[in-house]
Amino acid sequence: MSEEWSNLIGGKWTGAEAGKTLNSLNPADPGEVVGVVPASGKVDVDKAVRAARDAYEGWRLTPAPKRGEVLFRAAELIKENKEKLGRLVTREMGKVLAEGLGDVQEAIDMAYYMAGEGRRLSGETVPSELPFKDCKSVRVSIGVFALITPWNFPTAIPAWKIFPALISGNTVVFKPSRFTPVAATRLVELIAEAGVPPGVLNLVNGTGDEIGEYLATHPGVDGVSFTGSTAVGEKLARICSGLDKEISCEMGGKNPIIVMDDARMELAVEGALWGGFGTTGQRCTAASRVIVHEKVYDRFLEMFTNAAKKLRLGNGLSRTTDVGPLINDSQLKKVLNYIEIGKNEGARLVTGGRSCTDGDLEKGYFIEPTVFSEVSPSMRIAREEIFGPVVSVIRARDLKDAIGIANGVEYGLSTSIYTSDVNNSAVAERDLDAGIVYINAPTIGAEIQLPFGGTKKSGLGRKEAGGRGGALDMFTKWKVVYRDFSNRLQKAQIDKD
Ligand code: NAD
Repeated sequence: MSEEWSNLIGGKWTGAEAGKTLNSLNPADPGEVVGVVPASGKVDVDKAVRAARDAYEGWRLTPAPKRGEVLFRAAELIKENKEKLGRLVTREMGKVLAEGLGDVQEAIDMAYYMAGEGRRLSGETVPSELPFKDCKSVRVSIGVFALITPWNFPTAIPAWKIFPALISGNTVVFKPSRFTPVAATRLVELIAEAGVPPGVLNLVNGTGDEIGEYLATHPGVDGVSFTGSTAVGEKLARICSGLDKEISCEMGGKNPIIVMDDARMELAVEGALWGGFGTTGQRCTAASRVIVHEKVYDRFLEMFTNAAKKLRLGNGLSRTTDVGPLINDSQLKKVLNYIEIGKNEGARLVTGGRSCTDGDLEKGYFIEPTVFSEVSPSMRIAREEIFGPVVSVIRARDLKDAIGIANGVEYGLSTSIYTSDVNNSAVAERDLDAGIVYINAPTIGAEIQLPFGGTKKSGLGRKEAGGRGGALDMFTKWKVVYRDFSNRLQKAQIDKD
């Protein structure tokens, strides 16, 4: 019997009104049902939004440091359960266990960070031009937020949204991906156990088709925070802006690593390997393009290909596994299709390119780590997000050419340069058009205390995570307050003394 999980609505754990369910499968072995969750319908969304609305006033008026105490307890509970939750992430999403645990650690980090914000949520106080008058700007909550998340970070991305939304005084209706609902539900259980009042955090499991758009466009929802594909994000942004809803979308990427002729080659190869094949290439920040200076192109390609061939595929729970499965059959087919496109476009398949049929791998959605060389920037495999273990190695004449190629796509999430020359790194930092630039590190590995998000088709609206310009800007609006304690009418810009 597989374990049954519920929605959380108004503080009560409950199934879908229509009684329908969805199975969540282990992508390393889809015969294993990780858990069964409600397949919610519109009526369940209506109830969750109503519960969030009803709880809003009480939560908004709860002092932020008290909200922070709840988040702190959530952080402690998630930390106590890290090992189990990390294993669940691996079973449900497929990433190797070290990454499953890293996923949960990111949720813990975000919970502690945002708990601390309960005693900051800083605004600004400035002097008035008039005597006996003060002025300040304060952050205020927005209302009910719909949070919609993808499957590739089953606990981290929900935590990136839930904790800043709650600390800011909003209430939440959270819809996780239908491919990783169990880890998300377990996360919500732990947050609820920390003492979140009923209705403040609601969970509705279900498919994007059935309830995603309905939730985002619901008249009872004030703001939407979405992470997922560019196609869905752009569509939601169009609809929501017409409905006067706050919306921020984190979307796809086609992230480049530039390798200069003065790079430390072993370091660059190791970085490209982690950036390209970590999480089986299923990160929005995955390094799917490596742009190499022509002087070191052949050497890099040989070293990179040899290293890619040594990566061991397998179940993420096994200690010997370097690369886990893809999330599902449709993603497997999509990646194989891109490999065919690459071959037909004239790129050279240097290694990989096939789904795996050896032994136990046959059961899961495994594709060999794949490297294409002789890729030109105009090819589809160099421009479109594949979201799998496929890396295109592209030749560049010099730094200017490399930056031009890096910027010449519709996406702008994460970028990287490997160089020993400080001037090269400064030019790359200045000219790469993306939300994130790494120097001598791959495109993956963002830390939670700084904003996270992209330019162009990678991001719309506010950014995620911490720091100035981070998620607090997504989940609060500014209010300016002037207080006159002179007991007479004072006129700004007009009174002379
Ligand atoms: P997806 O867009 O298919 O789904 C994301 C979420 O949206 C899911 O919960 C889904 O159920 C829901 N959804 C689907 N259709 C919807 C609709 N019409 N209205 C409302 N909600 C809908 O994306 P995915 O396959 O789950 O995730 C992979 C994508 O996510 C990749 O493109 C990846 O780059 C992107 N991603 C981006 C970031 C980032 O921070 N930029 C992080 C992780 C993943």
